[in-house]
Amino acid sequence: MFEMFHALLALETKTLIAVLFWGNLVFVALILSYRIFIPDLRNRFLFSCACMAKLAQATAYFCLFFRGALPDIVSVNLGNSLLFVGFYLEAFSILIIIQALNRRLCWLLSGALVVSLLFFNGMELIHPDAALRVLSASLGVFLIMAIPSVRLLSAQPTSPLKITVGVFYLLFTLLLIPRAFYALFHDITVMSNVLVQSLAFVSLILLLVFGLSAFLLLIKENSDEIISALATTDFLTGLPNRRNFSEQATRMFAQGKETRSALSVLFLDIDYFKEINDRYGHAFGDAILLKVARLVRSRRSLTSSDFPCRYGGDEFVVLLHDVQPGETAQITTRIMDEVAKTRFAEHPDFTFTVSIGVHEGCPEGDDALEDYLKKADRALYAAKNGGRNQVAEYREGMAFQRTENRGQRTDQGSGIRDR
Ligand code: GH3
Ligand code: MG
Repeated sequence: MFEMFHALLALETKTLIAVLFWGNLVFVALILSYRIFIPDLRNRFLFSCACMAKLAQATAYFCLFFRGALPDIVSVNLGNSLLFVGFYLEAFSILIIIQALNRRLCWLLSGALVVSLLFFNGMELIHPDAALRVLSASLGVFLIMAIPSVRLLSAQPTSPLKITVGVFYLLFTLLLIPRAFYALFHDITVMSNVLVQSLAFVSLILLLVFGLSAFLLLIKENSDEIISALATTDFLTGLPNRRNFSEQATRMFAQGKETRSALSVLFLDIDYFKEINDRYGHAFGDAILLKVARLVRSRRSLTSSDFPCRYGGDEFVVLLHDVQPGETAQITTRIMDEVAKTRFAEHPDFTFTVSIGVHEGCPEGDDALEDYLKKADRALYAAKNGGRNQVAEYREGMAFQRTENRGQRTDQGSGIRDR
């Protein structure tokens, strides 16, 4: 068994280096063909980084392959330095994809590169020795690649893909260590056909194949997350959108039925919002929407298990989960108070108001979330008809009329004040 395993690894080092050269070159061609046409600047930087990483590695393997034919300064110093730079840029790309690149990691990674470069080239200057080169080259690549590997394992938010990629990266780079230790006690050169050496080069080939797949999959995972966030979040306020709300609220509603706990639906609409837009401009209107969104999301107004959303336009819906008697009234009072206190630096005297419709109940049997929403909506219309700037609770038989005076001033005043 061991002999078969040994035979599988007893490969000629020079051939492995040639495979690494061609492999990295193919990677460059693939990435470059995509990089040229992407409009997104952040991704352009990432793809440029990955492209340079593989180009540097391909050049490094080219230099190593022609050891002896090329001057030592090229095949030894330049070749190994490019290898460190290539892995440094690869590590950089991984950190960009998982959005973990911060100043501290940047310094750490650059530190690892500088140490590797100085150690390798310094040793070469003081005591040129083939075994020492093998040792410092292996340790340098390990030092650089250990940083993104560990960061992948501790990435937040984590994912099975990030952990798998982290584990494999760590494993492949760890396979360089036996080669480094072997070089400490044996006289080897980069071309020696010994098992630890082919093990190290095979692991570099696996790292190349695995790295390309991981690179593409991590990018896909990122894009999936972005698409999912765009599909479920309101662009302006960052609150869950109506679609997201329907899915989550239906689940909460079913849970409420099972646990027989009370639920409240709050339907909130800004008063005379059209007029505010007309008078102060859409940008200011957006600022109000943001303020109200922050308010309905705030823990001071709600509790952590409540679920707010931007239902559309100037309408916000909040599902209050497992409410205790009197709690809904406390929350709506708090929201009304906060709105009344709200001031904007650009129009210090401006105030606005909101109307809230409420329906509270203990869902059971055939009750549906849609009924709760409809009832809260009817209560909201009652609040609007009642003069706005108020909270109305749904009562049986409450009429649902889209009254003509919606959006018009009532005789109680506009609710917009700019003194
Ligand atoms: P009412 O007191 O009856 O609610 O009157 P209203 O003027 O607020 O009427 P309504 O709620 O129907 O008005 C909604 C307005 O919200 C209409 C639309 O121009 C505006 N709107 C919708 N989405 C946005 C947005 O994203 N930004 C801004 N600035 N305005 C928006
Ligand atoms: Mg409105």
